[in-house]
Amino acid sequence: MTAGKSRLAIDGGRPVRESLLPYGRQAVTEEDIAAVVETLRSDWLTTGPKVAEFEAALVACTGAAEAVAVSSGTAALHAAVYAAEIGAGDEVIVPAMSFAASANCVVYQGGIPVFADVDAESLLIDPSEIERLLTDRTRAVVAVDYAGQPCDYEAIAEICGGAGITVIADACHSIGATDKGRPSGSLADLSTFSFHPVKHVATGEGGAVTSDSDAFAARARSFRNHGISTDHHARARAGSWFYEMSDLGFNYRLTDIQCALGISQLARLGESVRRRREVAARYREAIDGIEAIDYLHTRPQVEHAYHLFPVLLGDELVERRPEIFAALRAEGIGVNVHYIPIHLHPYYRDMFGTREGLCPVAERSYQRLISLPMFAAMSDEDVEDVLAALRKVIDHYLPEASPGR
Ligand SMILES: *Cc1c(COP(=O)(O)O)cnc(C)c1O
Repeated sequence: MTAGKSRLAIDGGRPVRESLLPYGRQAVTEEDIAAVVETLRSDWLTTGPKVAEFEAALVACTGAAEAVAVSSGTAALHAAVYAAEIGAGDEVIVPAMSFAASANCVVYQGGIPVFADVDAESLLIDPSEIERLLTDRTRAVVAVDYAGQPCDYEAIAEICGGAGITVIADACHSIGATDKGRPSGSLADLSTFSFHPVKHVATGEGGAVTSDSDAFAARARSFRNHGISTDHHARARAGSWFYEMSDLGFNYRLTDIQCALGISQLARLGESVRRRREVAARYREAIDGIEAIDYLHTRPQVEHAYHLFPVLLGDELVERRPEIFAALRAEGIGVNVHYIPIHLHPYYRDMFGTREGLCPVAERSYQRLISLPMFAAMSDEDVEDVLAALRKVIDHYLPEASPGR
C-alpha cells in the first residue's frame, strides 16, 4: 500500500467491485440442465431409477456401503438420529459452533442436545469436551465437519466406541474431503450431507445419509418414507398393493428430478473441490502477510473440502467486527458469519436454559469470525478482489495503521 489509506466504499469511496460477489453460489451447467429435462420427459418424477443411481454415485464417492437420499440436509440429520434410536431423554453431544439443524435433529426425536465447546484453532468439536460431557444417558455425538475439514473421528471413536455411543458426522460441509485418504462419508457410524445450493453439490433442496451399517441404512430408508419398508418403485415391480407402516416416519423423499441434477453435479465434485483448494491456498498465502487476521488450522493428513473459508479477527480488530463486516459488503464482497453458537439462540435459551459462558471458545470465536466468499466458480479476479478489499478494510480499521505500514 502506498502512503495514506484509500477511502472506503462505506464512506463514499470507490468500491473494489461494482456488483456483490456472494459468499457461495451453485454452478449449473448445460449438462445439468439436460439431465433434469431428460428426467422430466421420463416415466418417473420421483422415487424412480434416478434415486438409486444417485445413491450409487454417493456410495462410490464416499466409500460408504450404503447411501440414502433424502429431501434436505436437515432431513438427513433427523433420519440419522432416528436410525441411531435416539429417544426421549437421551443425551446427544453437539458442538456449539454449527448451524442450528445440527442440534434441532436431536430435539425432533425428544433427545437433549448437550453443547460441547470447540477447538480454538480448527473450530471442530474438542474430543476432550466429549469426555467431559459424557454421562450414562449419552447415546450419540453429532460431530460437525466445520468449514469442510473432517473431525478427528479416530479420537472420537476412541472415546465413544467402547461406550456404545453412536457417532454421527454432520458432513454437510465436507463432501469431497479425506482424512488419511479416507473420504468423508465413511469416517463415522452415520454421515449426513446437504445438497443446498451453497454446498458443493446442488439439487435445490436435498440431502443424504451414508453408513457402513445395513441396519442404520435400512432404518433411514424406511424413515424417509413414513416408516414403510418398501418404496413405490419396488412395489410397482413386485406388482403388489401391499405395504405396512411399522414405525412413524416422514415424507423425506428426494425426487428423481433432483437426483438427476445431483448425479450430474456429483460427477464434477473432484474438479470443484480442487478449485476450492486453489482459492484457499491463495487466501492463505495472502493472509500470512496480514498480521491482524488468521485462518483456521487443518490437521496434516486432511484434504480439506473448503465449503467455507472463515477468518478470525485478531485482538486489535475484534471490537470492530460489525464495521469491518459492513465495510466489506460495501466494497462488493459478500462476507457472512458462520455461526452464531447454537446455544445462544432464543429457542435453546428458553427450552434448555443455555446461556453465555457455556462454550467460551465458540462464543469468543463467533465474535471474531468472518467467512470470505468460497465457491468453485470464483475466478482469479474474484479472489484478488476479495483480498484487495480485505487489505483495504483491515488497514483502515487497524488502530496502529499509519502511513508507512
Ligand atoms: C446446510 C447445513 C445443514 C442443513 O442442510 P439443509 O440441506 O439446508 O437442510 C446442516 N448442518 C450444517 C453444518 C449445514 O451447513
